[in-house]
Amino acid sequence: MSTFQYDVLVIGAGGAGLMAALYASKSANTAVLSKLYPTRSHTGAAQGGISAALGNHEEDHWEWHAYDTVKGSDYLGDQDAIEIMCREAIDVVIELEHMGLPFDRTPEGKIAQRPFGGHTRNYGEAPVRRACHAADRTGHMILQTLYQQCIKHNVNFFDEFQVLDLIIEDGVCKGAIAYEIDTGEIHTFHAKAVILATGGWGKCWSVTSNAFTLTGDGAAIVLRHGVPLEDMEFFQFHPTGIWKMGILITEGVRGEGGILRNNLGERFMERYSPTLKDLAPRDVVSRAIYMEIREGRGIDGKDYVYLDATHLGRERIEKKLPDIADFCRTYLGIDPAEQPMPVQPTAHYAMGGIPTDVDGRVIVDANNTPLYGLYAAGEVACVSVHGANRLGTNSLLDLVVFGRRAGIHAAAFANEIEFQPIPDNADEPTRELVERVRTHDGDENVATIRAEMQKLMMNNVGVFRTEELLTEAVEKLKELKERARNISIQDKGKRFNQDLLEAIELYNLLDLAEVTALSALNRTESRGAHSREDYPERDDENWLKHTLIYREEDGSYRFDYKPVTITKFEPKPRVY
Ligand SMILES: Cc1cc2nc3c(=O)[nH]c(=O)nc-3n(C[C@H](O)[C@H](O)[C@H](O)COP(=O)(O)OP(=O)(O)OC[C@H]3O[C@@H](n4cnc5c(N)ncnc54)[C@H](O)[C@@H]3O)c2cc1C
Repeated sequence: MSTFQYDVLVIGAGGAGLMAALYASKSANTAVLSKLYPTRSHTGAAQGGISAALGNHEEDHWEWHAYDTVKGSDYLGDQDAIEIMCREAIDVVIELEHMGLPFDRTPEGKIAQRPFGGHTRNYGEAPVRRACHAADRTGHMILQTLYQQCIKHNVNFFDEFQVLDLIIEDGVCKGAIAYEIDTGEIHTFHAKAVILATGGWGKCWSVTSNAFTLTGDGAAIVLRHGVPLEDMEFFQFHPTGIWKMGILITEGVRGEGGILRNNLGERFMERYSPTLKDLAPRDVVSRAIYMEIREGRGIDGKDYVYLDATHLGRERIEKKLPDIADFCRTYLGIDPAEQPMPVQPTAHYAMGGIPTDVDGRVIVDANNTPLYGLYAAGEVACVSVHGANRLGTNSLLDLVVFGRRAGIHAAAFANEIEFQPIPDNADEPTRELVERVRTHDGDENVATIRAEMQKLMMNNVGVFRTEELLTEAVEKLKELKERARNISIQDKGKRFNQDLLEAIELYNLLDLAEVTALSALNRTESRGAHSREDYPERDDENWLKHTLIYREEDGSYRFDYKPVTITKFEPKPRVY
């Protein structure tokens, strides 16, 4: 066991964590802890692009981008944060370019941009080309570029260190407790400021675009420390996952001109979104796919439709969508230049998360009271720029804009204060947890409970929800949590014990599944990605507000609410 001391500790090495670390390291001694080798973080899977109103192909303005984001969020996004994100987008994308990010180019050598769902010109008139991209490997390029910059700036990395707890005392965060995967040792990291950038929790669902590692650790840890989670009912289903597998087919395919078709060959999005058609926001397209399937127009009567890119031509597909072409050949045995791709909505992105202000400070109530020393950025955080539904390409943007702001603020905070003392036994609860999981002799196993949870979440807390389905989900999740106390793992060793870590990750997923189902049951309206069939209308009078869910010490939950910040755009009916 060792105790390490850093001014700023960043937990997570995806786009958000690396951008935060890069900026924090400019003025503070900074370390990054990551359960994965940094360049294996899920940001590397992001395909389609990062948005910024550069106007490289046609006229564009950050105010149009802000309007699209507000409307995309179904008016639940906080407009002050959205304005910051869309304004800073231009400068941050150019900064990435100067760091060496190899964007695709226009014939004149500017950063190439393509259309993406919900991004429009002149306040909704028609699609606009706003997604800056490096083929369909944009996230990979961002991750590699930021990692190289961090190495260049001497950021300290602790790779394959999994954080299992935070040290929080008297409203101040003072560090973290981490498990070294290679040795099984538990280490204490003493810090003046901690930035959580641990990513999302798509593994709560059975069909998902998310990797095995996306288990929501950061969000679950703070929930257990009494920090609320915000807007957990809003989880995005991306319309085009590969049927049954969930592997993502980027919206960039539709950005390049791909078309969704039902079993009659109809371009059905023309009926649901006459102006934007296939490039409507994701909540609209996912619902439309399910409506087609319900009305018997799924392909061969099954639960999928086709994404047709055959008219784009082989050259364009290979140049602009090379990874997608590879996925299709590898996983489906089809050539997308010749055959359409079978797709269904896949659990993709957490709009909710740990509430923060625009400098990344974690806040603990509706009055925006900060928890000193704790910051969050990226998918784990809720600032909230995505509200009830995120627009494609706005996540990569959120990571770099708010990662940068969190890094700057955390370093300034750390430079103003002394290290706060931590108790000698700060790691005791973690040691007990690890020992209990390692040695418990029960008759349940991780894989069975995880599979049951994922199926339940897919069936009951998916695109369409009802009181009946959600109540059943809440009850069954309680039962699953009870059963999970009786898990026995096979590997009793200390080195690379994935059995042990998967059990602890399952506890995190179960907690997040439970607060998602509870928050969805609580919100009796339909807004963005939260579609209640028993409350089909948006209800601004009662529900134009953010949900905060708190876990009490006895394990029960309570709700509070926070107003939505509206600056320029008053809520209107959302038609595309
Ligand atoms: C297939 C796919 C394609 C996408 N395409 C796009 C796109 O084109 N444009 C767009 O804007 N968005 C896209 N997204 C969304 C976007 O990629 C993610 O929201 C974003 O990358 C999340 O970044 P992050 O930095 O918050 O977390 P991640 O990149 O997921 O990184 C999380 C980090 O936290 C670490 N970590 C987690 N738990 C612990 C722990 N307990 N201890 C220590 N470390 C921990 C991990 O090791 C990892 O380093 C896509 C998502 C997917 C799944």
